[in-house]
Amino acid sequence: MTKAVFLDRDGIICKDRDDYVKSWDEFVWIPGARKALKRLSGNHRTVIVITNQSAVGRGLVSRLSVEDIHQRMMRGVHQAGGKIEKVYYCPHRPEDDCNCRKPKPGLLLKAARDFALDLKSSYLVGDNLSDVEAGRYVGCTTMMVKDDKKAGSVKNLPRDKTRPDYIVSDLSAAVDLILKLDSAER
Ligand SMILES: [Mg+2]
Ligand SMILES: [Zn+2]
Repeated sequence: MTKAVFLDRDGIICKDRDDYVKSWDEFVWIPGARKALKRLSGNHRTVIVITNQSAVGRGLVSRLSVEDIHQRMMRGVHQAGGKIEKVYYCPHRPEDDCNCRKPKPGLLLKAARDFALDLKSSYLVGDNLSDVEAGRYVGCTTMMVKDDKKAGSVKNLPRDKTRPDYIVSDLSAAVDLILKLDSAER
């Protein structure tokens, strides 16, 4: 079975914006993210992006624009020597109560079916507890990128089952850790 690395988008690959990334003009790569994805690509893991894009449901951005951003993002990663296999996004608002908005695991489960993934051997990297919760629910090893400016930052994380398995400084550090854990396993 295929092992995956699930990545959140905003705050992991591109900079998060309070008013949402609504077009390619507003998409700002996080320094080192593309290089990290390149290093990951030699590792026989399928990289899948799972992202909440409620701006669609809020009418702030069209599906077409979101998909255009994702096409360009995938192309940019490819040009840097990495590969994102697929991007899954939830277009709904929290109040829509869908089953795909993280922390719900709907998109992770869909990806697992589409790619015959071994979720227990997969990793999830996100910057919110809702990412961690979704990953944990399906049995992934979870890594949380720490952002002390955000509510729910690492400092305030409860020491209980909601805590991620690992806390890392950015995607690059997450990839270092994944490569280390994978080589220890072999
Ligand atoms: Mg995020
Ligand atoms: Zn949804």
